Amino acid sequence: MADAQHPPEVDRVAASRRAVEARRARASLKKDVAMRVITPQELVRRAFADPASPAGTMRVTEFLTSIPAIGEGKRDRILAQLGISPVKRLGGLGARQRRALESFLEERWPQLVPRGGRSHLVVLAGPTAVGKGTVAARIRQLHPEIHLSVSATTRAARPGEVDGEHYFFVDDAEFDRLVAGGELLEHATVHNRFRYGTPREPIERALAEGKTVLLEIDLQGARQVRAAEPSATLVFLLPPSWDELVQRLVGRGTEGAEERARRLRTAKVELGAQHEFDFGVVNDDVDRAAEEVVALTR
Ligand code: 5GP
Repeated sequence: MADAQHPPEVDRVAASRRAVEARRARASLKKDVAMRVITPQELVRRAFADPASPAGTMRVTEFLTSIPAIGEGKRDRILAQLGISPVKRLGGLGARQRRALESFLEERWPQLVPRGGRSHLVVLAGPTAVGKGTVAARIRQLHPEIHLSVSATTRAARPGEVDGEHYFFVDDAEFDRLVAGGELLEHATVHNRFRYGTPREPIERALAEGKTVLLEIDLQGARQVRAAEPSATLVFLLPPSWDELVQRLVGRGTEGAEERARRLRTAKVELGAQHEFDFGVVNDDVDRAAEEVVALTR
């Protein structure tokens, strides 16, 4: 007989499936914080906005230990200091506890405050496989008024790539000459293989004409642009989640275990660089991400 204590079998199955899904969603969110795809502050914001969400139903203990640099000992000291019971879930915190947790996080992990005044020189970077090239290509289609920098590279053209449009394809000697002549704003060897660099002259010309210039380059290049042009706006493209980035990196499963591990290690290091940037844009939808990047240039 089914009653309140003994729900029918179908309900129990559905309830346990929901519980499994909720646990999985929380595990995925914890990974996002651990891998720095989202900030601890962002998770807390979601939890407070919707206490029934995966973030809201996360225990404070689980939340704190997902943050890099917080182990179990430190976690317990923090909870005691903030006056929060370890059995609490984020969404169940009272107003005072919420404020205490927020100010604790803000003190330890200050959020980026975008510098005032926006530059017309915009750099789009982010971890490998996050889709920078796709977002940049969409910006080129939707906003021809934005000058998309064409890089020089020593790698060979892929089928369909046009010299002077996608890249300037040059050999090592020519690349050396560009570097020696100071003709590149930045340059780097990417993935330990080929050299890539941003020709300086076309950018200076476009900026002088009052145009917005977009560079889609790797992290090393972004750092060099920051050093050379401190006023440049640096945008970091983020994956919707760590799991999604892993899918994009190793999804096709064509690489060996060692190569897969190497790519994941690289992605983790790359995500750790986002605090050097002015803005983060999540690439959950190419059109939306493209428009968000463009809005940052206005
Ligand atoms: P791909 O060979 O797949 O077109 O590009 C490989 C990587 O090189 C991408 O991460 C891209 O952002 C980066 N890249 C392309 N052009 C430049 C450049 O001019 N400078 C730097 N530093 N990286 C670049």
